[in-house]
Amino acid sequence: MYLPMDLLTYHAAPDLLANRVILVTGAGDGIGRAAALAYAKYGATVLLLGRTLSKLEAVYDEIEQQGGAQPALLPLNLAHAKPDDYLSILRTIEKKVGRLDGILHNAAMLGPLTSLQTYDPETWDEVMHVNLRAPFQLTQALLPLLTESKDASVIFTTSSVGRTVRALWGAYAISKQGVEGLSRLFADELAGNSNIRFNCLNPGATRTRMRASAFPHENPDTLPTPNNIMPAYLYLMGGDSHGVTGQSLDVPRGDWT
Ligand code: NDP
Repeated sequence: MYLPMDLLTYHAAPDLLANRVILVTGAGDGIGRAAALAYAKYGATVLLLGRTLSKLEAVYDEIEQQGGAQPALLPLNLAHAKPDDYLSILRTIEKKVGRLDGILHNAAMLGPLTSLQTYDPETWDEVMHVNLRAPFQLTQALLPLLTESKDASVIFTTSSVGRTVRALWGAYAISKQGVEGLSRLFADELAGNSNIRFNCLNPGATRTRMRASAFPHENPDTLPTPNNIMPAYLYLMGGDSHGVTGQSLDVPRGDWT
C-alpha cells in the first residue's frame, strides 16, 4: 500500500520528535544515516547502531554540528549478535537515556544474487541473522522500554521482494518476507494492550550502496536519494501516524530527477 502522495511533501513540525529517543540500525550509511540525521533534526535523541564504528562516529559528529541532542553509539555487528548483546543494549539505553520511543530496523545485507540451487547455506544464515533475526530479537529485548512510552513506533524495512519473491534474490527475499510477517505478528499480539505501533516500510529504489550493488548498470541519478524519502520516515516515526499499525507501506514514488 502506497502512503498518500502528499507525504512526498509532508512537512513535519520542527518539534515532531522532541523528547523522543529513537534507535536506528544501520545508522552509518545509506537510508539509515539519512534517517538518523533527520530524526535528530526534528528533535529526537538518536541511538546509532551499526557495525562500522568510524561511520557511526561521523554521523554522531554531524548530529552535533547540526545542533541535535547528543546521540549515543551502539556498535554491534548484527551478523554475530548473541542474546547477551541485545540485553546489553537494553541496559545501556536504560542507563544512558532511560526511555525508548521508536526503532527503525534498517540494517540489512543483500547477500549474493544467485539461484537457490547454488546458494551457500552459511551465507544464507548470515543474511537471515542480520535481516530477520536481529529485528526480532532487538524488538523483543527492548519491549520493556517501548511499552513504557506513550506513543512508540517500530518500523521494519521491507522491499518489493518481501511482498513477491523474485528469482535469484535468495535469502534477502525470504528474509524480507519474514520481516513482513514479523511486523504483522508484533502488531497483532500487542494490539490493544500497548501504545506501540508496528509497520513495514518499503523505501523503493533509492540511491545507496546496496542499490548500486544489486543494479550495477542502473544510472543512480534517476533514483531518489535517501534524503528525498525522509518525509515518509518522519511521518511513520512521529505522532502524526498515531493509530497506523500492522500495515506494510511504500514510500510514494515521485519525479526525483
Ligand atoms: P546500505 O547498504 O547503504 O546500508 C545498509 C546499512 O546496514 C549500513 O549502515 C550497514 O553498515 C548496515 N549493516 C549491514 N550489515 C550489518 C551488520 N551485520 N550489522 C550491523 N549493521 C549492518 O543499504 P540501504 O541504505 O540501501 O538499505 C537500507 C534498508 O533499505 C535495508 O533494509 C534494505 O534492505 C532496504 N531497501 C533498500 C532499497 C534501496 O533501493 N536502497 C530498496 C528496498 C529496500 P556498514 O555501513 O557498516 O556496512
